[in-house]
Amino acid sequence: MATKVVIENAVLRGSQQEQFWQKVATVYLDGGEEFNVVAPPKATGDALEWLKQFQVRSPTAQGYNPVTDGRSQSIIQQVQAELEKRKLDSEIWRSGTNPDGRYVAAQICLRGHVLNVNGTDFERGEHCPKCGEASIDACQHCKVAIRGGEIYASTTDYKLPYFCHKCGRPYPWMADRLSTAKELLDHDDKLLLEDREKLWGLLQYVMSDPKSDMVPAKRKLFEIGLGKALPATREFFLDFVAKYLAEMTKS
Ligand SMILES: [Zn+2]
Ligand SMILES: [Zn+2]
Repeated sequence: MATKVVIENAVLRGSQQEQFWQKVATVYLDGGEEFNVVAPPKATGDALEWLKQFQVRSPTAQGYNPVTDGRSQSIIQQVQAELEKRKLDSEIWRSGTNPDGRYVAAQICLRGHVLNVNGTDFERGEHCPKCGEASIDACQHCKVAIRGGEIYASTTDYKLPYFCHKCGRPYPWMADRLSTAKELLDHDDKLLLEDREKLWGLLQYVMSDPKSDMVPAKRKLFEIGLGKALPATREFFLDFVAKYLAEMTKS
């Protein structure tokens, strides 16, 4: 049986409506006859984990007919083979849904331009159309996938993450800004060494947990400490912190 298997969703997101089964694949048999392979509404994550609960359906003008004869098993096996092959290919392609099934995947260039966060599959390692930089879709330290938005949220609400939600290290676009900031502090000769260290500590505190109750107080101390710095340093940091906090705390 020569067939064509088109995978629709290798990672399942769960259905918001209980009656809606999720399409995993469309299969075209030799003569062009079409079948849909679906997974239960509650299924989330890697579709391969739900193989035993797959159903095969034959679409009709009115809806669909379940397929329960011998073809069903063979169709599911071919979908399984295709899903397994795709898993091996994931070095090249990343599913648009994060492996956790709760967030979409994100592809972001090293400078922080978002290439892809709309839930579609994408080719890994593409370069940024805005600046030409390489892109990543996972933390470079712990390899955990960067989260896009929550799966049913609008992509326009997406907030660029600055730190890995798993290991807490800054993503490259943040690491760059932080090292620029550190350099500015270190080269400000109006500041004593201990002022620099204190300011750096306060800055990291504010950035690592922007929603903490302590942030307004720490921010105040930071601004007071900056009073001794060169005007250019002061301006840079006030702007840096204000922008950062605005992005991180807007709801
Ligand atoms: Zn870019
Ligand atoms: Zn990480």
